[in-house]
Amino acid sequence: MNDLNDVLYSHCIYPDTGIQWDLLYAVIAHVNEDFVCPICLFPPVAPRFTPCGHIMCADCFHLLLYKEESPKCPICLESLLSYESIRAIICYHDKSPVRFVKVVRNNSYCILNPNNQFSNTLRKSSDPYHRLNRFSICDEKFVSDIISQESDAILTQKCIYSEEVCNEKQECLNRVLKEVQNETNTPDSSVFFLFNESESDQSSTFFVPEDGRLIFIDPLSLKMLESEYGNINRYPNTFEAPVISSSSITIDDSNRHFRPEFAHLPSGAEVQVSFLDLSKVVSNRVLNSYKNQISSRTKANIKKPPPKKRIITKKDFQTFLPLAPEPVIDLRNEVSFPSLNPNESSKNKPEDSFPSLTNSVSKTKKAPGWGNIKI
Ligand SMILES: [Zn+2]
Ligand SMILES: [Zn+2]
Repeated sequence: MNDLNDVLYSHCIYPDTGIQWDLLYAVIAHVNEDFVCPICLFPPVAPRFTPCGHIMCADCFHLLLYKEESPKCPICLESLLSYESIRAIICYHDKSPVRFVKVVRNNSYCILNPNNQFSNTLRKSSDPYHRLNRFSICDEKFVSDIISQESDAILTQKCIYSEEVCNEKQECLNRVLKEVQNETNTPDSSVFFLFNESESDQSSTFFVPEDGRLIFIDPLSLKMLESEYGNINRYPNTFEAPVISSSSITIDDSNRHFRPEFAHLPSGAEVQVSFLDLSKVVSNRVLNSYKNQISSRTKANIKKPPPKKRIITKKDFQTFLPLAPEPVIDLRNEVSFPSLNPNESSKNKPEDSFPSLTNSVSKTKKAPGWGNIKI
């Protein structure tokens, strides 16, 4: 267990500490509402991360491993010879408003705490705020909840697929159900990491989504909040706002240095910086004073409709046809219209195009007067 505490200590101090996959019980994945398993094309049941990092149902993963001689991930075609997979906890997101929570981070650590709920331990996974941080400590309640949810989901699947038609599927579901129900890996809930708040007085206060997504508030939305509330200490502890538009930023040393809200994130992490609809958070006075910037941002986000297909009308023919040059077709041109009769072809060959190497011939055989035939 000292290993785990050492690893967590490193993660709490250095955001770029590498992940030790064998210490992970589950990984949270944020996906769109239409996310499906790449094999059965339904929302994944008892989802698992494959060794290549893709998500599929536990039974679909088993089906691949047992059916195929050399199983490959259907998305990236990576070989799936390893039986190892990590449990995925999927969070589906639609376009509904994002709930932001005000967090405080002591500048010596990578740990976020809700403004009004300080804790000097790394949160347990059953804590409602455990998603604010990159890691939480897996506890018994969290594990038992997951096992009962997965067992229920697998039993429902077993009812959907009839045994006669989908024998293989049923076999895989049975195998997964047995595995899930026989899990003996009960976590030691006494493990936690204690850090010392007094090591640094400096802290940063900012907002992050309560669900753990990496969405940050853009400068214009922050200005509006500042105009409404003044000091960040007077902002509400939580608020909900729909996202109007977003841009992506990849975390590196420079943006970690200049933006304190990024300092706890690992290099290479993709974050969204979002312009928010704050109409339910700030007053009309503030909305009015920023109305030009709001409307230009909102307009920029409205997708232009695709250009209409141009239909050629009778009027177009009447207008444009007289302007087009009359086509000129030269039927006697041997290059464009070669003769079928070889003798005829050589006789009518234009001298200018293929001049004779002997002067006498070229002088005597003058090309006939080629005329343009107008049709
Ligand atoms: Zn599936
Ligand atoms: Zn893959």
